[in-house]
Amino acid sequence: MSLLKDKTAIVTGAGSGIGESIALLFAENGTRLVLTDVDEEGGQRVLQAVKDKGAEAIFVKADSGSAEDNERIVGEAQKAFADVHIAVNNAGIGGAQAPVGEYPIESWDKVIGVNLSGVFYGMRYQIPAMQKAGGGAIVNIASILGQVGFEQSSAYVAAKHGVVGLTKNAALEYSSKGIRVNAIGPGFIKTPLLDENLPQEQLNQLAGLHPIGRLGKPEEVAELVLWLASEKASFVCGSYYPVDGGYLSR
Ligand code: NAP
Repeated sequence: MSLLKDKTAIVTGAGSGIGESIALLFAENGTRLVLTDVDEEGGQRVLQAVKDKGAEAIFVKADSGSAEDNERIVGEAQKAFADVHIAVNNAGIGGAQAPVGEYPIESWDKVIGVNLSGVFYGMRYQIPAMQKAGGGAIVNIASILGQVGFEQSSAYVAAKHGVVGLTKNAALEYSSKGIRVNAIGPGFIKTPLLDENLPQEQLNQLAGLHPIGRLGKPEEVAELVLWLASEKASFVCGSYYPVDGGYLSR
């Protein structure tokens, strides 16, 4: 089934993990893709993979934490494909682990800059482009940590709570203008973000926090993003959907 046929979608942080899975699933659903990432190698690899699936696509090396780069991404998308209909603001980082009273200021600024300001910068330029296109859909990748706290992770938790609030505000402002904005909250998902930063023992502990008894897979997150981006979700806006193996049920 081609749920996103003839649509153009921007996916940030598409060179790895959840963004990569979203890009591949979108490609299978007929989408033209504008992939962005700071990681040129990962971005080029995923670009080739979506082209192999038959998608028209470009890669734009860009820092989601920069307003100028977000403006440039939308400009490149319009240059290549005229209109932008869908955006998935996915790029994100983990940050330092420390209690609030010891949290490194530099890491706070970086995490808020990419994980929260990055989503605002994205929508700041995506929304006018979608208005020009006659409407669209935005999916912001928050986290279960956009609903609850997690020790040693204040910057990440604050940024992801901010993404949920920002999503609601954008939905209030643009739903009547044909742009649906939603956020999703993945539980802990097995991607390089976790694998490269945490020892196996901690990964096992994290898996145990999910009633389903395991970590999630990036493909399982991509399925929800596809649905929210598609016309199947035509009456869904301003919402937050967990995809978390039951984590938030505790
Ligand atoms: P990932 O595997 O590390 O992929 C993220 C990609 O984004 C990487 O290619 C990364 O490049 C890139 N990136 C980092 N900073 C960027 C920036 N400033 N501008 C553009 N691209 C940037 O991480 P993931 O697990 O797929 O996470 C994707 C999103 O899901 C994030 O927003 C994350 O917070 C969220 N999330 C993840 C989990 C989880 O458990 N994995 C759970 C809930 C929510 P580098 O590799 O070079 O840094």
